[in-house]
Amino acid sequence: MNIYKKIYKQIQKSDPIILAHHIGPDPDALGSSLALKEIILNKFPKKHVYAVGHPTSKFAFLGKLDKLPENYKEGLLIVTDTPDKHRVDGVNPFDFEKSVKIDHHPFIEKTCKIEWIDPNASSACQMILELCENTRLKLTKEAGEKLFAGIITDTNRFMFAYTTDKTFKLVGNLVKKTNIDINEIYNKLYLRPYKEIKFQSFIGSNFSITENQVAYIKITDDILKEYNVEVPTPGNMINNFNFIDEILVWVTITEDKNFGVYRVSVRSRGPIINSVLENYGGGGHKYASGARIKDEENIDIMIKDLDEVSKNYIKENA
Ligand code: AMP
Repeated sequence: MNIYKKIYKQIQKSDPIILAHHIGPDPDALGSSLALKEIILNKFPKKHVYAVGHPTSKFAFLGKLDKLPENYKEGLLIVTDTPDKHRVDGVNPFDFEKSVKIDHHPFIEKTCKIEWIDPNASSACQMILELCENTRLKLTKEAGEKLFAGIITDTNRFMFAYTTDKTFKLVGNLVKKTNIDINEIYNKLYLRPYKEIKFQSFIGSNFSITENQVAYIKITDDILKEYNVEVPTPGNMINNFNFIDEILVWVTITEDKNFGVYRVSVRSRGPIINSVLENYGGGGHKYASGARIKDEENIDIMIKDLDEVSKNYIKENA
C-alpha cells in the first residue's frame, strides 16, 4: 500500500482525529494542520477533528486552534511539519496508539507509527496538497488559502531551492481548483506596521559581519521595547535579509526574557547550517534553522561554528 493510501485509511477509520504541529508555529505549521482539519471534515463531516496547539496572534487569520478533547488518546494523531517529539505543540505523540507524521524536515527521530517524511518537499502544506491529489480527500477554498500561505512563506515566495516543478504543479492545480484570491493572502501575510520597517532598518544597520560572511545581531529585551515589537518579530523578518552580497549566513539572536532564553534564527545562501544548530539543541533545514539557547557563552561559540562552516564553504566554492 502506498503512503497516501495508508494515511487515508487511518483517517477513514479514526474518530476523533487530533492534528498537531510544532511549537512557535509559522504559516506552514498552522496552515498544514488547519487545512487538513478542513479537508478531513469536508470528506467526513461527522468526524470529530481538532487542530491543537498554542495560538499566535500574528497568524490568527489562518484559523482558530482547538482544545484537546478528553478522549484524545482513543483517536488518531496527525503531526505535521515537526520532526521531533519535544517540539510537538500541545500533545505527546507517544500517548497515541495510532499516529501519523507528515513532515518535510530531515529525519531526526521516529515519533509516529506511520511516518511520511519528504525533505525534498518545499513545505508540509505542499505534502497535504499531494495527499489530496492522491486520495479521495478534496481541497476546499478555505483549505487552499491556508495551504497557499504555508507554501509561499516556507519557500519565501518560490525563491528557495526546494521549490520544484512539483511545487509549481501542485500550486497551479490548487489555484485552478479553488480560485483563491492570492492578493488577499499576500495582504494578510505581508502587511505590517511602519514600526516594523524602522526595526528592520535597525537590524540591517547593526549586523556584525565576520571575516567569513556570517552576519549576526543580538537583540535585547530593551531594544524590543524601544521599537515596540514582539519577541518573534526578528525571526519573522529574517528572510528579508537574503541576497546581500557580503553575507552568506545571517543570524538573529533575540532575548526572550519571559522564558530566560535567546531565540536564534539562522538563514544561509550556501553553507549548510542545521548540523551546527543541532549541536545547540536546535535544528531545522539545510538553509533555515533555529534554536533556543540559554547560555550567552554558547551563542558566541555557535557564531564561531557557523563562521567555520562558512569558511569551509567559501574555500570549497572558490
Ligand atoms: P525559524 O528561524 O524559527 O523560522 O526556524 C527555521 C527552521 O528551524 C524551522 O524549520 C524550524 O522548525 C527550525 N527550528 C527553529 N527553532 C528550532 C529549535 N529550537 N529546535 C529545532 N528546530 C528549530
